[in-house]
Amino acid sequence: MENQKTIKKEFFIEGKGLQTGKPVKAFFYPGKENSGIIFVRKDLEGKPSVSLKDLSGLSTDRRSKIDLSGKGEVETVEHITAALWGAEIDNIKIELDSSEPPALDGSAAEFLKAFKDAGITEQDKTREFVKIKEPIWIEDGESFLGVFPSEIFKVSYILEYPSGAIGRQSFSQVLNPEVFQKEIAPARTFCLKEEAEALLEMGYGKGANYKNTLVMDKDGPIDNVLRFPDEPVRHKVLDLIGDLYLLGRPIRGRIVAIRSGHKLNLELVKKIKPAYR
Ligand SMILES: [Zn+2]
Repeated sequence: MENQKTIKKEFFIEGKGLQTGKPVKAFFYPGKENSGIIFVRKDLEGKPSVSLKDLSGLSTDRRSKIDLSGKGEVETVEHITAALWGAEIDNIKIELDSSEPPALDGSAAEFLKAFKDAGITEQDKTREFVKIKEPIWIEDGESFLGVFPSEIFKVSYILEYPSGAIGRQSFSQVLNPEVFQKEIAPARTFCLKEEAEALLEMGYGKGANYKNTLVMDKDGPIDNVLRFPDEPVRHKVLDLIGDLYLLGRPIRGRIVAIRSGHKLNLELVKKIKPAYR
């Protein structure tokens, strides 16, 4: 039996949103037992909020958007939720004064470090898991994402990109907090050089720069150095873990993903938890 956890003391982090480019302060507060992961928009009237346990609105796009009871949204929270998974935090209140958390270095490492610096404390109630009892999968063209019954949490991911700098990369490991901290949390967001301009035109990546985003040219990232030779696939695993933790509870199961991105990740979340549809 494992117990639920929260942070020991409050703290805040500030920066700019990766997609919106807007300045934002994110405040983190210890959460009560069974309260779950709560997102609050403190800049909006009435401070709308939602606990991922009660979430019913999840829109799937290139970025994830969480509906706060029709009164506002938070978006692109997957690096925070991945870090929460890695810190095994079940209960926490996160107040944002904008729609999107700070991009920081484009990975989950700084969030994870901040949680650990604040201290993580065990609570009295038992931790709940999403136990996968039968295979659940989803396909879209050449993309596939499935979760299968298993006592261990193992993620296998295959990334295929039509570019020499990324190409085909795969990652397959049993994941626990230690492995996550070392192998996954530091992996940063990436895009292809060819994509960068189009993404900006579509309104994405306004807070992106060559330091928090690996902009991949033929020979590697522009004005940056890879933290891992296969950093892109590790970041895809990071996003997948963050997206799946929108379930509010960790999954007990085996994950297999081929070319899966936010859209498919969130479709699987909805399939696992019908309330999210
Ligand atoms: Zn990401």
